[in-house]
Amino acid sequence: MTTRSVPVVSELTAPYWEGAQNGHLTIQKCDDCSAMVFPPYPECLACSSGNLTWTKMKGTGVIHSVSRVASDILPGLEDLIPLYVALVELDESKSAIIPTNVVGTEIVAGMPVRVKFESLGNVELPIFERIVEGEASR
Ligand SMILES: [Zn+2]
Repeated sequence: MTTRSVPVVSELTAPYWEGAQNGHLTIQKCDDCSAMVFPPYPECLACSSGNLTWTKMKGTGVIHSVSRVASDILPGLEDLIPLYVALVELDESKSAIIPTNVVGTEIVAGMPVRVKFESLGNVELPIFERIVEGEASR
């Protein structure tokens, strides 16, 4: 059985998890310089502004880099092997790179992906899946 650890929701990250609960990937965007900030942070990493607004993303992007975990070295995650751990660049901004899992097979860098949500009880965990050719415009 898969036993992913459940993320701890803090005051800072609560809007991220609330967005996920509603089926949206939401990221902080700087009101002053338009940079996207991820992971959640109290101020803009580009200009230090504290004026950040949680913004709904399309949830699509491209795999920047990926590692394939092939052995069951992760207790409780055997069901997920092979597990793809990736950095995903969102279509809206290359400055918002999301560390995540990508489900599917033969996952490689440069592949288009979209967000999906895995329910962990009271938290919806954003993960990504490969966009299969022919359904990219869905
Ligand atoms: Zn900024």
